[in-house]
Amino acid sequence: MIRPGISHICVLLIIAALVVSGCPKRILTSNEAHHTETGFRNVYLSEKPGFGAFLKWRWERVWKNVPSPDLYQFPIASGDPQFLQENREKTTLTWIGHATVLLQMGGRNILTDPHFSLRASPVQWAGPKRVVEPGLSFADLPPIDIVLISHDHYDSLDEETVKKLRERPGGQLTTFYVPLGLKSWLQARGVSRAVEMDWWQRQKDGPLEITAVPVQHWSKRSLFSRNKSLWAGWVVRSDDFSFFFCGDSGYTPHFKEIGRRLGPFDLAAIPIGAYEPRWFMKNHHINPEESVMVHKDVRSKRSVAIHWGTFILTDEPLDEPPQRLRRAMKEQGLGPQDFVVLQHGETIIE
Ligand code: ZN
Repeated sequence: MIRPGISHICVLLIIAALVVSGCPKRILTSNEAHHTETGFRNVYLSEKPGFGAFLKWRWERVWKNVPSPDLYQFPIASGDPQFLQENREKTTLTWIGHATVLLQMGGRNILTDPHFSLRASPVQWAGPKRVVEPGLSFADLPPIDIVLISHDHYDSLDEETVKKLRERPGGQLTTFYVPLGLKSWLQARGVSRAVEMDWWQRQKDGPLEITAVPVQHWSKRSLFSRNKSLWAGWVVRSDDFSFFFCGDSGYTPHFKEIGRRLGPFDLAAIPIGAYEPRWFMKNHHINPEESVMVHKDVRSKRSVAIHWGTFILTDEPLDEPPQRLRRAMKEQGLGPQDFVVLQHGETIIE
């Protein structure tokens, strides 16, 4: 005889299984330490950088010689947009600028943190100004199948670019993958295909599998929105290729875990810029020495430098990160091709 309690449980389990199968799949259910009553938090970081620390940094900056954006000149690679528009066979990566990368893998075109606007700012008349044009113009982009957003800061999630992507022919077919808490933001801007994911959740997208992974950062877009939405890195896998997009992060044990669980990676996009002053930046932004450690921790076969040379966000000279990266690579035993610095618009073909 089946007791009523058990049949009840069976029905609930079946319903739960049906609900779960329609959602992105979870690899892990116990790691909820990053959830709070009101939003999200970091796992390996207890202290909160207060507004006082921010003001101290800005005050110190007044006395520093932070160079003007007009002093920098970065060459733009002469790319082959027509090849990129037609290519659905070869695996390629093009660094467009800052954290914006065009990745072509598994016959899909993927953009990371797309930013094609003049400023990384809520308004286009003030805020960090682009020092170099996007290395591949918006008009030259191939049709975009997938957009990966790491978090809601203005240099990663650009409203104008999201609107332009939605409005281009076929733009409604682009799927945006975002960390928890950002789906409604996209929907309010007319994006119909938005998939919101927690750390370690994964989702099939045609021939690809997409996984959100933990990093140490924060979020804020308006006065009261601090850490209301999550931040994440992304892993994209096909049958024969794997890619890691780091997003923004401080250096933490997350990277070894990502490497252990989802590595090795054929290719990784790892930030090398926005790290000074260390006392203020180190919890949320790796420096080039740590970028090399991340490359090793996640077990990347080849990494590409991102998040540098485009917007002045922090205090180091804008052209310093590649020099420090090269030094760190030597010190940590990497070969010159293991972690490459591309020109804006430069494409590598795997
Ligand atoms: Zn950020």
